[in-house]
Amino acid sequence: MADLPISKEAIENIFGPHLKHEPPGGWNSTIQEPDSKVKTHCCFCGQGCGIILKTKDNAVIGFDPWEAFPFNKGKLCPKGVKRYMQGSHPDRLMNPLENQPGKGYGVISWDEAYTKIVDAIRRIQQEYGRDAFAMLSGVSLTNEKSYMIGKFARVALQTANLDYNGRLCMVSAGAGNKKAFGIDRAANSWADILETDLILCTGTNVSECSPITTDYIWKARDTRGAKLIVVDPRMTPIARTADLYLPVRPGTDVYLFNTILSLMIQAGDIDSVFIEQHTTNFDEVKAAVAKYNPQDCERVTGVPAVNIIKAAEWWGKAKRSFLLHARGIEHHTKGVDNVLSCINIVLASGRIGRVGCGYATITGQGNGQGGREQGHKCDQLPGNRDISNPEHRKYIANVWGIDEKDLPGKGLSAQEIVNEIHAGKIKGLISICFNPLVSLPDSQFTEEALKKLDFYVAIDFFMNETARYANIILPGSLHEEDEGTATTAEGRVVRIQAAVSPPGEAKIDWHIIKEIAKRLGKEKFFNYQKSEDIFNEMRLASHGGTADYYGISYEMIEKNMGVFWPCPEIGHPGTPRLFEGGKFYHPDGKAHFNAVEYRLSADLINEEYPIYLTTGRVVFHFLSGTQTRRIGFLTDQCPEPYVEIHPRLAAKHAIEEGDLVKITSRRGSIELKAKVVKTIRPDTIFVPYHWPDGKSINRLTQRALDPISKIPEFKMSAVNIQKVYF
Ligand code: SF4
Repeated sequence: MADLPISKEAIENIFGPHLKHEPPGGWNSTIQEPDSKVKTHCCFCGQGCGIILKTKDNAVIGFDPWEAFPFNKGKLCPKGVKRYMQGSHPDRLMNPLENQPGKGYGVISWDEAYTKIVDAIRRIQQEYGRDAFAMLSGVSLTNEKSYMIGKFARVALQTANLDYNGRLCMVSAGAGNKKAFGIDRAANSWADILETDLILCTGTNVSECSPITTDYIWKARDTRGAKLIVVDPRMTPIARTADLYLPVRPGTDVYLFNTILSLMIQAGDIDSVFIEQHTTNFDEVKAAVAKYNPQDCERVTGVPAVNIIKAAEWWGKAKRSFLLHARGIEHHTKGVDNVLSCINIVLASGRIGRVGCGYATITGQGNGQGGREQGHKCDQLPGNRDISNPEHRKYIANVWGIDEKDLPGKGLSAQEIVNEIHAGKIKGLISICFNPLVSLPDSQFTEEALKKLDFYVAIDFFMNETARYANIILPGSLHEEDEGTATTAEGRVVRIQAAVSPPGEAKIDWHIIKEIAKRLGKEKFFNYQKSEDIFNEMRLASHGGTADYYGISYEMIEKNMGVFWPCPEIGHPGTPRLFEGGKFYHPDGKAHFNAVEYRLSADLINEEYPIYLTTGRVVFHFLSGTQTRRIGFLTDQCPEPYVEIHPRLAAKHAIEEGDLVKITSRRGSIELKAKVVKTIRPDTIFVPYHWPDGKSINRLTQRALDPISKIPEFKMSAVNIQKVYF
């Protein structure tokens, strides 16, 4: 086959200069013609961008833009552009490994590994009870795997203690959505952003964390003159393009949104007809927010009163509006309250369920939406059913062919599982695509817990930092090595296609789970031959739940390039926009206002710890960095964490650009280089969280949880800083 020339200009024509990438071999080099081109989706964030992977000799060698895919139309961020490179990394796990005392990790056979795992599960459960063996999973996994893991934990392990890393991501939004709307999904597809007049982004660094959403926001501005309000302690790239920027103090979001609602009510800028016909509980919320005023709000939030008033006027009087939020308001001990305070201003405006009128949380992880629907949360069964609801339990027990009495009840959340491991009550753990040592707060505590485990088996494709503590590591599959479905931030169910097969002795994740289930004597419950078999069972299990996939088939997804759930019947077209006609998903058919009061964060600033620390992502890395820290281009762009400090705060501590700064919280200290920037509040510092060990900012964050969602308070810790002198 002839080699194809590729020029820098050709790449820039497709991606624009800001997304340029260097092809294998450098600019103006040649690339090999692929054996195949596979239409699939990016493995990283919840945007789920379409991408065409090019393969040769069972390796992914590059990509083409999938311009027909409606969400991103060929556009990708730097992570998507370089995602194809990880599969060839020499760290790729290819054999089962056992940590042998005194010798370190050695290769063992699959049969030996399975035998030791099953023996350990049986021994621990016989001695300490079934719940003493826990499972932690990831939401980068497909819907099929998420569903199967939920079933595996309840039917094969028979443990209540299963949870997932979405617990560190989207659960506050999910809980808030269910309380307000009776369903947990973005209210609209992103197409409605293009049709709106006012966009409010709060706690979302869209340009770095969900870059393709930036394109929607800017298009709405360019084509309709839409205005943009951004609420964030940092003047993120999207905030620099905003018409109104509100630099809120970390942890004070409820105060701001309650004040905005109070001002809207006073000005009569609410939709009384919509409130009367389609909602409940407005009077309680109205009474609760009456005492919030712009002057007190300025004192608490640090946002100038004049701009709070302006935001309330713009939101109150808009004809069409769209509110977007993400982890910035969700990663708090009051994350659910923050979400509800946002939803209250949406419901009061009545602008939801119509063209250009909507609301969404921007899901973080690749399958953050689907992964929180199909039953691998500690309190959930497939279809977003409640594991404590007798009717829901009965339905799922029937689908699974088990006695409802044998279905475990509500278990512990991810952080609570680690707390119980630390307390010596949970003795065994199986994890899959979850790196809690980097992801969870207070990482020294997590490390202590991992050392206490009697037996730990980790399934992953790279040796992540947590897996270093495992007795046995099983080589699972990369995103491009298996097929299935995922559900994007919009609620669009998309097809993940296998581009290559797992290398060496690595196996497809669900094949590993199936074999362990078989050896635990539960083979008949996991008799799947292909991913589609799991999907078809999942459709049935989801039927009648709010996250209803019953009418969706692989064929339908491929034909339409995605289907929006709910899709409750065969022949149903799917539901891109929820709540049309004011129909909500609570039994009364209405949306529910929820009164929330401002309360303090768990970790208070004082004289010793006078500075707010907030954490987040950078565009070049993803979550715990297991994948992106192994992609050279991304690591070159951002090789290590840093601390963003405002010039006034830096001057107070004699800190200059590039100086080493010691940051100390009530949990510990780390030392990072200073980045002195004007784009952050002077009372706040920011550190990205993608690195392990001595560079992990989660050595400083705290284990305090939201009482409803059980999300840790990553976004607000009290710290002090000192320049490090040599
Ligand atoms: Fe798209 Fe997200 Fe992948 Fe970037 S990381 S290409 S925005 S899916």
